[in-house]
Amino acid sequence: MSSTKILIIEDEQDVIDLLTLNLRKAGFTLSTATDGAAGLRKAREELPALIILDLMLPRMPGLEICKVLKTDTNTRQIPIIMLTAKAEEIDRIVGLEFGADDYVTKPFSPRELVLRVHAILRRGKGEIAEEKKLSIGTITLDPARHHVSVAGKSVRLTSVEFKLLSMLMHRQGRVQARDRLLNEVWGYESAIDTRTVDTHVRRLRKKLGKASAAIETVRGFGYRIRES
Ligand code: CA
Repeated sequence: MSSTKILIIEDEQDVIDLLTLNLRKAGFTLSTATDGAAGLRKAREELPALIILDLMLPRMPGLEICKVLKTDTNTRQIPIIMLTAKAEEIDRIVGLEFGADDYVTKPFSPRELVLRVHAILRRGKGEIAEEKKLSIGTITLDPARHHVSVAGKSVRLTSVEFKLLSMLMHRQGRVQARDRLLNEVWGYESAIDTRTVDTHVRRLRKKLGKASAAIETVRGFGYRIRES
């Protein structure tokens, strides 16, 4: 059996070396591309288990690659971790909107990145068990079809946003702590960065529009869906 393949799309050789060294040590098989166009081609041909995608790339920007991969039914299920520089806050937000699964800010700790890779790959296997259709207010969630609608209108959510909403809806009325959500939605064992939760909740609320009033922020703790 071949080991899990990760595709690295990055143009800086020292970052490639750092990633290669650490991921190989963790038992992964690696493939690399040093420009955007080659990266997209490899992603389509090799269908890796996960992609680590730099944002600033020659020939095709990382965001464009993310968008293309996440709208193609052959590649949309491949998790993407974006590598961003601190100054690229806006790109990061857009990247999450385009369906990237996580982001890591440069300079990053290789150990943390490997932990995140493991967590994301684990997450793909342990899907949320509950299959029952749920409605709260105007929001309807159908786990079997992986579909969400607000007042009958379909809403496109990323897989992370879907899991987040599903978790909150199934536990209506109960506050969900940020670190618990990180653990159950993202698969992280320790609270690496709870702001990740806030960023995704913000995106989710925006997509739900007025219906998002059902999601309450419990200051300093987490989130819950109000009892109706
Ligand atoms: Ca770069």
